[in-house]
Amino acid sequence: MTSDTTAALRARVAELFPALQADLEALVRIPSVSAAAFDQAHVAASAAATEQLLRDAGLPDVQILSAPRPDGTAGAPAVVARRPAPEGAPTVLLYAHHDVQPPGDPATWDTDPFEPTQVGERLFGRGAADDKAGIVAHLGALRALGLPEGADLPVGVTVFLEGEEESGSPSFRAFLEAHRDLLAADVIVVADSGNWKIGVPALTTSLRGLVDGEIELRVLEHAVHSGQFGGAVLDAVTLMSRLVATFHDEAGDVAIGGLVTASEPEVDYDEAALRADSSLLDGAALAGTGTVSGRLWAKPALSVIGMDVTSVAAASNTLAPSCTAKISLRLAPGQDPVAADEALAAHVAKHAPFGAQVTWRTGEQGKAFLAPGDSAAMRAARAAFTEAWGTAPVDVGMGGSIPFIADLLEVFPEAAILVTGVEDPDSRAHGANESVHLGELQKVVLAEALLLTKVGEGL
Ligand SMILES: [Zn+2]
Repeated sequence: MTSDTTAALRARVAELFPALQADLEALVRIPSVSAAAFDQAHVAASAAATEQLLRDAGLPDVQILSAPRPDGTAGAPAVVARRPAPEGAPTVLLYAHHDVQPPGDPATWDTDPFEPTQVGERLFGRGAADDKAGIVAHLGALRALGLPEGADLPVGVTVFLEGEEESGSPSFRAFLEAHRDLLAADVIVVADSGNWKIGVPALTTSLRGLVDGEIELRVLEHAVHSGQFGGAVLDAVTLMSRLVATFHDEAGDVAIGGLVTASEPEVDYDEAALRADSSLLDGAALAGTGTVSGRLWAKPALSVIGMDVTSVAAASNTLAPSCTAKISLRLAPGQDPVAADEALAAHVAKHAPFGAQVTWRTGEQGKAFLAPGDSAAMRAARAAFTEAWGTAPVDVGMGGSIPFIADLLEVFPEAAILVTGVEDPDSRAHGANESVHLGELQKVVLAEALLLTKVGEGL
């Protein structure tokens, strides 16, 4: 690719951008919250609106499809649009989702969450970044490469816009299996993450996995008087606290034997920024050792996310006979969730305090993601990002999980997965005052058009 091609594409994206921004604004006006308590007619409306956008973009084969969820109910409507590959050329699957998180309390927003509002270079609104900007990034790249005519489109493309990502993608696996042929691709671009900061692009190369479950601890057949038996018998909450305290060492690192730690990330998360972003109170120390980004992306993390104990209001002078805790263990990239679950179960059994009866009940398991350090698709993406921003991308991780990535890896093991996105550290996805930086979005569109061109030149 010559620098003339890049300059021409950059000019084309700039020319197309006002219309793309208008399309993004129209999508943000649809309150497509996929959480069950919200009116699902809006999710259907956003599926219809994105279907129309893809049709207008000249993709010949556009459908709204759904698959059953594990509970037997119908999954949310997804939109799939295809343009077959030119003879011998690869196919790229472009993923984003058209549903959004609930807006939360409108009083915490400075603008109406469903009325897109531009302030300076940022466009505010629920879904403006996560992930309606991802839809617009795909649309923009296709338009920049000449669709609806499409003479310049050197690859086959399948656009896949999910409708229930913010509700945990319950029908995703069934959808992939039902539409395997429709979705099969050589490269999968998941535009649902973000960049490192304004002006510095990033590829998301690792995601943590997850196992969770419950510990039930039993010490007495029934509750007894704390004056009569306290001193010779410890209550179940105290015993559970002693067990929970064994999960971390003195520095706050997870102390469960046998868990994997990945290599240190190439960029660090500034401690002051972490303190501000997490609302950590003055004087509260950070937990763990090593770089901050390493603690968040490359190491396991264990949290107690729920506990059944007597409430303070209902407390009486009795020793609790049993206590149940819900444990969430985030897994480092490279960690097998089954092995992590077994390590956690063994730790719980070994550290049963004072001979209390402890039971570990396995819950959900989600696989971590670790991109290959180098591959033809990664090289193409890095080159495209470098041209679009004038700055090479950094590799970043995510402390959370995108569980459907594991499904994509399992159903399409041959495909190269690239996790990209439009968010920046100020995007506040899922929170109040969500926004996208329009200058960065324009670069994301250009980078994706360059990437499709490079993939078309051969991997
Ligand atoms: Zn998202």
